[in-house]
Amino acid sequence: MSAAKTRAPGAGSGAGTTARTAIQVEGLVKSYGEHMAVRDLSFSVAEGEIFALLGPNGAGKTTTVEILEGYRAADKGNIAVLGLHPRTDARQLKPQIGVMLQLDGVYPTLRAYEVLRLFSEFFVNPIAPDELIERVGLRDAARTRCRQLSGGQKRRLALALALVGRPKLLFLDEPTTGMDPQARRATWDIIQEQKAQGTTVLLTTHFMDEAERLADRIAIIDNGALIALDTPAGLTRGQSTTTTEVYFSATPGLDVVALGKLPSSRGAREETSGKYAIETGDARALLAELTPWLRDRGADLTELRVGRSSLEDVFLRLTGKEMRE
Ligand code: ATP
Repeated sequence: MSAAKTRAPGAGSGAGTTARTAIQVEGLVKSYGEHMAVRDLSFSVAEGEIFALLGPNGAGKTTTVEILEGYRAADKGNIAVLGLHPRTDARQLKPQIGVMLQLDGVYPTLRAYEVLRLFSEFFVNPIAPDELIERVGLRDAARTRCRQLSGGQKRRLALALALVGRPKLLFLDEPTTGMDPQARRATWDIIQEQKAQGTTVLLTTHFMDEAERLADRIAIIDNGALIALDTPAGLTRGQSTTTTEVYFSATPGLDVVALGKLPSSRGAREETSGKYAIETGDARALLAELTPWLRDRGADLTELRVGRSSLEDVFLRLTGKEMRE
């Protein structure tokens, strides 16, 4: 069954790449009525890679993932998942992929352990339910009925269900949403463990730290379109190493042209209302110029930071939006 991976019919070739391709997406388009949720999206994921789709609410992440899982049909574009088409080859593909389902309303009266045992019966060589319950930290909730699980416990059960069939490819749609910090870290460990075992992971998230920490490569999507694709370091490197950024929050509507003309400034911008960034080659000199400039204009200064761009800054610069909401 695993022989299917060598070729990606109808998916274009991953020409020039040595690693085999687990997911190939070319020119994917999906609309809901008038609304185009995914616009001409192309990317590929190599086998064994953790690949993150990062974007704000409504960016089109879930739509993309559900098309790749075979739950939604694309309007246009070529896709191949483990060399197969998610809809026409579903019978061959399903046993090889793990999907993290939304468990709300599913099996409300079954206990967590019972749902996991039920799912394990669909696979030839499942991971033992006891072992998995332990691994995802649900031992104390194993006998709790699904409807009584907390949001975070439901996500952990969903993760266990995704893992039970020992998939080659894992789809994790916002895996840690609703989890407390400890459970998030534990989930990150499990995801990294999966990678160490050779599993490919396609992850969606709107948590920057999650993408930065886990992903080999990150595709930033906004309004259904790809706006950047690189390694976490590549995304934040962006600009020249001799440039430092000074970020500050102050009264909205300050004169960024004038800020850009401060002697040590190489350019200034207001990224969102009241959030500014100034590029400089000498942060200390710039701060000495900036503070009196703000004082003279009676501007409130509520936040000040000097540093290289974080992923959050990259996102803000590319989209003009903050990641959350
Ligand atoms: P979130 O982080 O909120 O889950 P997302 O990036 O996963 O967002 P999608 O759920 O793919 O985004 O939604 C993309 C856009 O398509 C949104 O504007 C959403 O309202 C719309 N949309 C999604 N599913 C449907 C549907 N079944 N019918 C109509 N519109 C939809």
